[in-house]
Parts: sequence; C-alpha cells; structure tokens
Amino acid sequence: MLYLTAHRPDNLGPRDFCWAIEGEPVLPPTTICGSPAGADHCGCNRSFAGMSSHKATTTLMVRELDLTEADLVAAALGSANAAGWTDDIDGDAEDQEYARGMVAHFANIAACYPPGTVLRPWYDHDTEEWYFRDCTHYADVDDDGAQP
Ligand SMILES: [Zn+2]
Repeated sequence: MLYLTAHRPDNLGPRDFCWAIEGEPVLPPTTICGSPAGADHCGCNRSFAGMSSHKATTTLMVRELDLTEADLVAAALGSANAAGWTDDIDGDAEDQEYARGMVAHFANIAACYPPGTVLRPWYDHDTEEWYFRDCTHYADVDDDGAQP
C-alpha cells in the first residue's frame, strides 16, 4: 500500500533535516509546540518521525510498501510503546483506534500522489491539520519557509 516514508534527498534544502532512516514509515510528532510557521529554531511543526528510529525528517516520500494497513498499525503501536506513550506493545482499545485512524489518514494522503513524490509536511495551528507541499521538483519550490 502507499504510505508516507522518510526520505533524505540529495539536494536537501537549507531548512531541511532528515535524521530518520530512509524508507521507514513515518507519523507526525506526538506534540507540536507553538513556534510560528517558518520558524527555524524548531522543526516539530514541519517534520514527521520515523516509526522505527523515532527521528525526524522534513522531507517525506510516497512509497508503495509491501505492508498491509494492519502491519502499519502494529508498527505505529510498537513505536508508541517504545517511546513510552503506551503501557503495552499492542496498546489498549483507545490506542488501537487512534493508531488505526492515524495510519488510515496518512495512507489516504499518500494515495493522492504517485509513488516517488517528495513532500514537505507543515502543521497549521488554526485548523490543527497537517498539510503537504509537493517538493519533488525543488526548483519549483519556494524554500524560504513561507507556507503556501
Ligand atoms: Zn516545536
């Protein structure tokens, strides 16, 4: 299935970072501070974290993964448990529902793009939603941190 994964492009932009493992599935950070959009001092409102590494990346790639939605939900629950957010690796019913919702939401977003698309996530505090900017062709992307 199509899903969002960590990606470190060769031409990483000046405001980008990628500490995650290339190709690992990602989730948004659990908490997002109040830094203004475009602020350089914190990347939590413009990066996702790898489910295995727990490390952040500002650049993602849509990839076809040889995983089912149930596999990704199990990975998300394992990741939450390893990070100390749940008491049990399978989570409780609320954790499972949350993980299913997150994976389904970001799988739906990934399905809007062809495999290989490179995206930059950004969080809008007003709508409390994540948005994605296609930056597959970096020359076409304004890289000053301004949001579209
Ligand atoms: Zn922050």
